[in-house]
Amino acid sequence: MELARKIEILAESAKYDVSCSSSGVENNTRQGTVGSTAVSGICHSFTPDGRCVSLLKILFTNACIFDCHYCINRKSNAIPRATFTPQEIADLTMDFYMRNYIEGLFLSSAIIKNEDYTCELLIKALRILREEKGFRGYIHVKAIPGADEKLIEELGFLADRMSVNVELPSRESLKLLAPDKDPYALYKPMKQITKKKQEESYLPMVVKKGPSFVPAGQSTQMIIGASPESDRSIVKISENLYQRYDLKRVYYSAYIPVNQDSLLPAVNSEPPLLREHRLYQADWLMRFYRFSADEILTEEKPNFNLYLDPKANWAVQHYDQFPVDLQTAPYERLLRVPGIGPKGAQNIVKARKYYRLHLNDLKKLGIVIKRAQYFISCNRETPAGLIKDPEWIISSLISSKQYNTLKQLNTQSTSEQLSLFDVERFEHAKAKG
Ligand code: SF4
Repeated sequence: MELARKIEILAESAKYDVSCSSSGVENNTRQGTVGSTAVSGICHSFTPDGRCVSLLKILFTNACIFDCHYCINRKSNAIPRATFTPQEIADLTMDFYMRNYIEGLFLSSAIIKNEDYTCELLIKALRILREEKGFRGYIHVKAIPGADEKLIEELGFLADRMSVNVELPSRESLKLLAPDKDPYALYKPMKQITKKKQEESYLPMVVKKGPSFVPAGQSTQMIIGASPESDRSIVKISENLYQRYDLKRVYYSAYIPVNQDSLLPAVNSEPPLLREHRLYQADWLMRFYRFSADEILTEEKPNFNLYLDPKANWAVQHYDQFPVDLQTAPYERLLRVPGIGPKGAQNIVKARKYYRLHLNDLKKLGIVIKRAQYFISCNRETPAGLIKDPEWIISSLISSKQYNTLKQLNTQSTSEQLSLFDVERFEHAKAKG
């Protein structure tokens, strides 16, 4: 098969993987504009020092021996198949790099023959790149769960970042929708990477020689909306992953129906993009705003209010904790106010050392007054003309159309996630199988 055809097939097959930052964003070019994030092949990611880099995003092979229900590359699908050689991957990366198209590589793979064999092929490709071609650019590689620990370690010394995809938010869903995968094997490489990085961090600088083990850390990806877990269980899993494995990022991928399958949402259904967005907002709250998963979503309300962002939703549900007085509240309390981010909170803390704050000062301190006004006071003065009622605040924060829909949903007292997923069908299949 011609190399160009392989590239076409394998870049297309890789586009459903979102564990690099720009994938999954639909932003097609129009006449008179440049740049598209929808076309597969090149994606963007961030290096440990915060630089945004373009990566060649490609699968080593899509000739998978597994049959995961949700995946376009599953063995039972009749799609064109292709496999690179390690040399081709190395040549391609160098070629694109020399032409200034890319600054690095994002390499993933389906399972060809078995996990060890697949991992060995990835290692070969990266060895040629690093050792024969002297490539020092950024490499993000997918760890292959189930491969031997030695191979995972070897791969980790050749890459900057590794990711191990959790795939689905529960072991039950994995068993049902990815029957060839061992749910326990998925977490093994994650654990191994964490341990190896910890061991490395204990070594004194003088002893450290040669390349570091995955210097940009590890990340993971979860598919959202292919299985019936609540938002709360997804957020709790993410929290757990951050704490246990020191992950750099948990990526969420709204399930894009690609297969006709009775266990999955219909092919013509829309991917739950708003839900994915809310999950990223919740992720942000955990990483930068000191929220715990239990605070963001409770057992009684396990799913996001799709009309309100999770921070505003939390604030209206805990309205008894407001207003927060900006002149006296500690930094942690300031962070809880919708419209105040870490930078804004820092600015407030700094500014009030020198002068008494006034509501008129807030804009220049980087506060989004439109959102914060319902939840703040400044030296006991509150913004004028506002009604101190959570219901009124919700209606002011969202559009009247959204508010009416929200009210209607509340009257129906549904706790069901707004998704097209058929829970009953899933439960039935789970019981059978
Ligand atoms: S292992 Fe499963 S998810 Fe991965 S490529 Fe194969 S079928 Fe797709």
